[in-house]
Amino acid sequence: MSGRKFFVGGNWKCNGSVSKVDELVGVLNASNITSNTEVVVAPPSVYLHGVSQKLRGDVKVSAQDCWTGGNGAYTGETSADMLKDMGVGWCIIGHSERRQKGETNEECAVKAAYAQEHGLSVMGCIGESKEERESGSTMDVVIGQLKAYAASVKDWDKFVIAYEPVWAIGTGLTASPEQAQEVHEGLRKWVAENVSASVADKVRIIYGGSVNAGSAPTLGSKPDIDGFLVGGASLKPEFVEIVNAKD
Ligand code: PGA
Repeated sequence: MSGRKFFVGGNWKCNGSVSKVDELVGVLNASNITSNTEVVVAPPSVYLHGVSQKLRGDVKVSAQDCWTGGNGAYTGETSADMLKDMGVGWCIIGHSERRQKGETNEECAVKAAYAQEHGLSVMGCIGESKEERESGSTMDVVIGQLKAYAASVKDWDKFVIAYEPVWAIGTGLTASPEQAQEVHEGLRKWVAENVSASVADKVRIIYGGSVNAGSAPTLGSKPDIDGFLVGGASLKPEFVEIVNAKD
């Protein structure tokens, strides 16, 4: 046993409606959720307040991004202070769907540091594209992304590394448990050598990319896979099975 608490995040992305969100919260509130797993769900920002009001206390709430300005004349943004005010404790940073819009490693690192400075814990996403995997540069890419976070992250107790190969997100193609374990092990080794052995030992490295109730138990049995970031399946009752996969 690693001593790292298993962690499952549900990324609802830009999905839902008032009634669908109520339904998802209702399912979570009525389910048996193991206390061995830390569970965090990330609704779209417009639903954050309602979810944080209605959701059971042992499931935490996350934003899907973090704006690095404060309150002020920033039309369309949601500030970290507002997130805190709504009872949001977490933030996803650097999701590939945002990186595809041009977010760089450095911008992601700035956001992660800003979020932490404003009291939010961070799921920092990294992951290689299909072309990068096929050309053999997976580790170079993910370590480059992690290195940028590591340069600015101060509190590793409030940082979860989310490895999400881009080719596996929303495609139904899950990385095999061996493929995922190999990357997680390499990431942990990098942290041991470049941050510290104690951070490497405690930091959670979670896997994302088409995780479902079928794939979760085997992925979760790998020594360096400490949980999941779940997209599509987090909108289904199946999410609870994924959360309990390690129990
Ligand atoms: P998916 O998404 O589970 O639908 O592949 C994962 C994610 O984007 O976090």
